[in-house]
Amino acid sequence: MFRGIGFLMKYTWKVEKRYIFYQILLQILTAVVPLADIVIPKCIIDELMGAQRVDVLLGWTALLLAINLLGNWLISFLDGNSFTLLSKVFTSFQAMMADRLSRSDYARLEDPKFLDIKAKAEKFIYANGQGFGQVMRSAFSVFGKLFTFAGIVAVISTLNTWVVLALVALVLVNALFESKVRKQTTAWDLEKAPIERRTSYFLDLVENFAFGKEIRLYGMKDWIVGKVREHLQVSERFYARQTRLLNQARYLSAFTNFVLKGIAYGYLIVSVVKDLIGIGDFTMYMSALLNFSAAMRELMESLLNIRQFAGYYDALMEYMDVPQRMYEGRRLPVPQRPYELRFEDVSFRYPGQENDVLKHISITLRDGEKLSVVGENGAGKTTFVKLLCRFYDPTEGRITLNGADIRDLDYDQYMALIGSVFQDYKLLAFTVKENVAFQHAEQEEDGRIRDILMRSGLAHRLETLPRGVHSHIYRTFDEDGFEPSGGEGQKIALARAIYKNAPIMVLDEPTAALDPRAEYEIYRNFSQLTEGKTTVFISHRMSSSKFCDHIALFKNGEIAQYGTHEELMARSGDYKELFDMQAQFYR
Ligand code: ADP
Repeated sequence: MFRGIGFLMKYTWKVEKRYIFYQILLQILTAVVPLADIVIPKCIIDELMGAQRVDVLLGWTALLLAINLLGNWLISFLDGNSFTLLSKVFTSFQAMMADRLSRSDYARLEDPKFLDIKAKAEKFIYANGQGFGQVMRSAFSVFGKLFTFAGIVAVISTLNTWVVLALVALVLVNALFESKVRKQTTAWDLEKAPIERRTSYFLDLVENFAFGKEIRLYGMKDWIVGKVREHLQVSERFYARQTRLLNQARYLSAFTNFVLKGIAYGYLIVSVVKDLIGIGDFTMYMSALLNFSAAMRELMESLLNIRQFAGYYDALMEYMDVPQRMYEGRRLPVPQRPYELRFEDVSFRYPGQENDVLKHISITLRDGEKLSVVGENGAGKTTFVKLLCRFYDPTEGRITLNGADIRDLDYDQYMALIGSVFQDYKLLAFTVKENVAFQHAEQEEDGRIRDILMRSGLAHRLETLPRGVHSHIYRTFDEDGFEPSGGEGQKIALARAIYKNAPIMVLDEPTAALDPRAEYEIYRNFSQLTEGKTTVFISHRMSSSKFCDHIALFKNGEIAQYGTHEELMARSGDYKELFDMQAQFYR
């Protein structure tokens, strides 16, 4: 039950030690200040009922007020600052989760099981809408309550033991039921997480304007909203069930509270009437008993919070245990150039699929070689480069770089070797410069970025932008943002690859969205763009194969033909057929 807390305490200690000290002090104070309110009034009343000495009355009153003022000032200070310190811990934790996600194997991001685990783990941060801040406070309050009890017990130990035991029993009955309720609520919460993930996907469909065209033109508004509603209704049923259960716990709590106060008042009134205790004692015992039951309830509440949280902790651990295979295992440094890349009898099947999409691929790429990969849709071309980029690892066979299995190489170092342009490149809502140079943007000279954009063909458009390379892409954060057309976006994506200047280039239909002139320019400059780089170039423009050293024609996941353009044109076969098919309209 305390595992989650142990983890959090260690984490907080690492990030912000002051929080722990502040909380300890805060707990001691919150225990001591109310004690003054219990004991001192008795002394005042006793004095009032007895000698009524002014100096004694003044003395007690001054002490009570001083403890209250100073105590509460300190409590406010510690409480307020704890909040700020905890925010720091919280931010650091969120950053750690984001880091974890960005290091996840690419394959996981497409795996719904992983995304569901992630949604559950997030409950650890945001549980009950307050998340681990509340639980940290609960943990410290358990500790603080020990002080409160010690004080109160010292006061009421003079009273009838049976009465005290009866009160404890009542609080326990309450806690027992509440604990069952919490356990159930946690289970429901975790069950609900995947549903909520789907709901937010559908909500995003409606809100995100990227989907706006399809939704309008295909008239799917009602259909999508229907799906949102369906999922929300499932969530609603969860909430209704939870509320019913929570209400039962509240009714029970109100009832035990009623019995508790009844016993306390009854017993104390009878004691005063029988002259067993004075009025001063009556007030002291009364407030001690009420404080006792409140403290007991808070203690139970805190323990239950912690326990409920333990359920989320298990989900978090499951998430943390998801292997980051790409970053684990051997991490050899990447070898020196020249590079020879080899696919050795590589087969690949997407996780959860029935058939191999690549079958026994063997191919060698020498340093500086340009390989054109052609073939019909679904032949496996993109999958081939995804394996080369280590987004996935082969199911069978291996890919080597100078003889070393790329799985054994340091992942970040290997990634640094590859520059790429994918069909589904993504631009960020940052400046053009940041979109090209990313983390290096700040130190990079604007001139260099402009040169690169000139090479990728964006120069003319860039001149029309008032803020040049500092123009924001999209209007997400800037109303004067630049909305690139498909072709312009592709030119920026190409500029990234040029900027990265990596020894291996992967170009997956990099000119698909370009106009004929822009495409012509890229092709004309192709040898310059890829000079000295090992390049894998996927294109449906068969003519582009002419300036590659070799062509691999993929068919149903296999390399059906391999050779130079001239060799393949000299034979009859798919390559010649596809080439002639496309060429006939150009004559
Ligand atoms: P190409 O680039 O030649 O058009 P791909 O390599 O993209 O072909 O796809 C090859 C096959 O693998 C296709 O049948 C496609 O449906 C399947 N495929 C691609 N991506 C995935 C994926 N993430 N999960 C499952 N199957 C996939």
